[in-house]
Amino acid sequence: MSARTVGAVAETAPGERRVALSPDGAARLLAADHQVIIAAGAGDAAWFTDSDYTDAGARLLSRREVYEQADIIVCVNPPAAADVSLLRPGQVLIGLLAPLLDLDLARSLAQAKVTAISLDGLPRTLSAAQSMDVLSSQANVAGYKAALVAADTYGGYLPMFMTAAGTTRPAQVLVIGAGVAGLQAISTARRLGAVVTGYDVREAARADVASTGANFLDLGTPVSATGDGGYARALTADERDAQQGALAAAIATFDIVITTAQVPGRPAPVLVSAAALAGMRPGSVVVDLAASGFGGNVEGALPETTTITDNGVTVIGAGNLPSRVPKAASTAYARNIVAILAHLVRDGALVLDHDDPINAGVLITHDGEIVHSAVRALIEAPTSEGPDA
Ligand code: NAD
Repeated sequence: MSARTVGAVAETAPGERRVALSPDGAARLLAADHQVIIAAGAGDAAWFTDSDYTDAGARLLSRREVYEQADIIVCVNPPAAADVSLLRPGQVLIGLLAPLLDLDLARSLAQAKVTAISLDGLPRTLSAAQSMDVLSSQANVAGYKAALVAADTYGGYLPMFMTAAGTTRPAQVLVIGAGVAGLQAISTARRLGAVVTGYDVREAARADVASTGANFLDLGTPVSATGDGGYARALTADERDAQQGALAAAIATFDIVITTAQVPGRPAPVLVSAAALAGMRPGSVVVDLAASGFGGNVEGALPETTTITDNGVTVIGAGNLPSRVPKAASTAYARNIVAILAHLVRDGALVLDHDDPINAGVLITHDGEIVHSAVRALIEAPTSEGPDA
């Protein structure tokens, strides 16, 4: 299968400002012997002009022409139905397609005989996959921005200031969930001068938090929940109740709380209950990075929505923070795309080796079939239509 022409168009998801290919990514693909085509205006929202792309050597076309001429279309979000209808048999689609959350999309891409590659299935702990890890690159941006959003909303200083007008105490920041996003939120809040504490249910996270110089929150409860592949496992109901109760008492002492906790294949765990919010001081700020249509870490938080509780706590359901740092997020994303293409395309042809763990993780549909084992299992399960609730 020829796979020399790589194309990108503007994202259409509401509020999305990232683009799958940056001018830097285009130049790297051209250096690797690909041709690059880009829809006019595709990078506008990320502050990449059309001439940035043409200067890099890409060809500028209309959106429809990109779909017609590209062997490989790269995207950030899953394509809308109108875009799926523009894909042709044999064309390759690479992006964050979330097939486990949208089985209909997987079905329609198989029906369209598209070779769909979803980067959220990447086996992230393989060292060969690290340069392709879009979940980490975007989580890193999200953690950074979460600290900035919190600082911007908080009515006080983050650092301690000693001025002629007096001395201010530094803000106390708690970051719950010390994975990629959480560790970056911790580091960024520390750079801003806050006194930062991290918390996680995985035992290994203690050392990760300590390596940033932050404190670790010891809840005094015996909850330790390391799951498969370095991720957390879901807590039992008893563990969850114990954790929520202990967290509620601790949370009341913080000015800013940033939550980033996720459990693979499950809705995000609720860690900050309504009771915990009610115990916080007026003016406190809570940023929930896990807020999505499937719930979040903060009770009642909604994506892209900011609310103020009756006791004056601002709750920010963050949703898509990487989109709010679109230039850096797109540049990192495009580097990940360049790396996966270097892995999958040899001598201008897409090489699909089913024994390769990277292939097995990311390849969703090929030749009219759904080939990804987890997506197939979900489709073939008699009653299930989505992730485990
Ligand atoms: P994630 O997005 O799945 O979850 C974020 C964090 O939430 C995790 O640290 C998790 O332990 C925590 N969490 C889940 N339930 C919780 C609860 N009830 N209470 C408190 N915290 C809870 O995680 P991630 O950022 O994708 O990273 C998960 C792990 O994988 C980390 O150890 C990370 O360092 C590792 N990782 C390794 C590589 C690699 O080896 N290249 C790449 C990516 C991630």
